[in-house]
Amino acid sequence: MSETLSSLVAPDTTGLNFFRADRSLADLLEIYLPAPLRRHIEPHLDRLGALAGDELDHCARLADRHVPILHHRDRFGRDEQWIEYHPAYRELERVAYGEFGIHAMSHRPGILGWPAPYPAVAKHAFTYLFNQAEFGLGCPINVTDGAAMLLSRFGDAALKAAYLDGLTQTDMTRLTQGAQFMTEKEGGSDVGRLTTVATPEGARWRLSGEKWFCSNADAEVVMLLARPEGAASGTRGLGLFLMPRRLEDGSPNRYRIVRLKDKLGTRSMASGEIVLEGALAYAVGRLDRGFVQMAEMVNWSRLSNGVKSTALMRRALHDALTVARGRMAFGRRIADLPLARRQLLKMMVPMEQALSLCFATADALDRAETGNDKDAAALVRMLTPVLKFRATRDARKVCGDALEMRGGAGYIEEFATPRLLRDAHLGSIWEGTGNIVALDALGRAVGRHGAEAALAAHLHARLDEAIPVPAAYRDRLRDAVDRAIGFARAVGTDPEREADARQATSALYHAASATLLAWEAWRIHEASGDARRLLLSRLVLDHRLTARDPLAPAAGTVDAQAAALLLDGRPVPMAAAAAIAAG
Ligand SMILES: Cc1cc2nc3c(=O)[nH]c(=O)nc-3n(C[C@H](O)[C@H](O)[C@H](O)COP(=O)(O)OP(=O)(O)OC[C@H]3O[C@@H](n4cnc5c(N)ncnc54)[C@H](O)[C@@H]3O)c2cc1C
Repeated sequence: MSETLSSLVAPDTTGLNFFRADRSLADLLEIYLPAPLRRHIEPHLDRLGALAGDELDHCARLADRHVPILHHRDRFGRDEQWIEYHPAYRELERVAYGEFGIHAMSHRPGILGWPAPYPAVAKHAFTYLFNQAEFGLGCPINVTDGAAMLLSRFGDAALKAAYLDGLTQTDMTRLTQGAQFMTEKEGGSDVGRLTTVATPEGARWRLSGEKWFCSNADAEVVMLLARPEGAASGTRGLGLFLMPRRLEDGSPNRYRIVRLKDKLGTRSMASGEIVLEGALAYAVGRLDRGFVQMAEMVNWSRLSNGVKSTALMRRALHDALTVARGRMAFGRRIADLPLARRQLLKMMVPMEQALSLCFATADALDRAETGNDKDAAALVRMLTPVLKFRATRDARKVCGDALEMRGGAGYIEEFATPRLLRDAHLGSIWEGTGNIVALDALGRAVGRHGAEAALAAHLHARLDEAIPVPAAYRDRLRDAVDRAIGFARAVGTDPEREADARQATSALYHAASATLLAWEAWRIHEASGDARRLLLSRLVLDHRLTARDPLAPAAGTVDAQAAALLLDGRPVPMAAAAAIAAG
């Protein structure tokens, strides 16, 4: 873009390498991944970052505009349902499944030349970069991954032999994508009301009923919940089934996609309504534990959703910074105008909070799975809904604010901002709405399992370690953690206080992220001399965990000092960050 034009129309992020432009990502990978693995994936992340900032983004724009079309017959007049996708969507699939194998990273050794399956931390670094360009396909990738996880955990040997290879293939001609059909008209949140019936037929089952929201509607391997004939009501009576799209002889299974949803966001991806007309299915795991087993896939997806919403926020922030640095108003760069700087900071803080929580949750998951670590398992149980609740919610606001930073052009579909905003609204609906996830965090994780104790212990240990962070500031954080945990415990153990569940979940999120940001500042400073995350921690503490007078001036000195350093982009020495944090 020429100089003259760039002062008229704000540039966008086209050509930006989303990996290279993200110092926080590189810093957190350094903390959380062993050096050999980090070094191995860096060139791949670099390539994905470049693709996401350019070709993939272009494909995402096209795929969003040219939505999938459901056909009920093939060209020979046979009653064969199929979904037509734009070639841009196919290209996105090829890159995600075929080139990077994101769906298979947790399951299959050898992806991108690494001899073992990847830890969740590494996998979600790819999820995060990919979703900065394309959020719609993020769902199919995740449910394919989740279906493989469920199958390998609970499927019998024959089922695994038949379906696991296809779910984890990177050869596009052999890949069989997954899906998860739970929601029915009667209940999305209230899953116990499902009415789909499973009737035994020898060792197999026949399914009858209707599924109301089926993303990746034409997936080949579907995981779903249904009630075996005569089983108890409620979630206890639900079984988990695997339903193939095609039978062994290649003919279609007995279910129909009735129509595709006309959605606000994720328009590139096909979500359908499906009628089951005696569809063949196989029971997965114990029939009386269907819901409990499916909950593992739900939690798997909730972490993924948190990461994907963080990706949307990062992309939105990239866009807002590009505009603010590239456009003039009233003779100054927008990025130099005090009120605009404050808005940029208000996007940056929730974005970085979410990134911290994504890494902490994925790391706890890795420790829980590989080390059989019970405390880590409790930490994942606590952090997953907390992350999903708040990051998906914040993404709506950050994406909306980034749209506004671009002014009128931000509202125009030629730019990414409307797509980001439309997509962002889905994060807090699927895999449990905000209310349902907050109730899970408080009622179940805290109230039933006492998982907040593991979070408290983890955060205290982090604060004890971070010696270079001023003691007085760490004491403030300790106090905030204890108050948030106490509040969550009071709400989670008292059914009369259900109405406070969202507030208490947010309190856990803010206390955890403020603490983790301070701890990361210490670790990153040791490695590369940058303590900027300590400033972010202080902003979270001030704005999210400290009582304020709504009539007092909001833009205090800490905010202005932090804004100057954070928006400048250069590393912040610990002494400077510590002076502001403790001030
Ligand atoms: C684009 C898209 C794709 C989707 N893809 C899939 C898919 O692939 N597979 C699948 O199974 N589902 C899918 N869903 C469905 C989604 O998971 C559900 O829509 C969601 O769980 C909410 O369920 P519901 O629509 O029945 O709303 P309801 O359960 O009727 O909820 C309505 C409102 O009531 C609130 N509410 C409900 N119970 C409580 C409570 N106890 N306390 C307080 N508030 C409450 C909810 O928070 C919500 O605001 C998809 C949805 C969308 C929009």
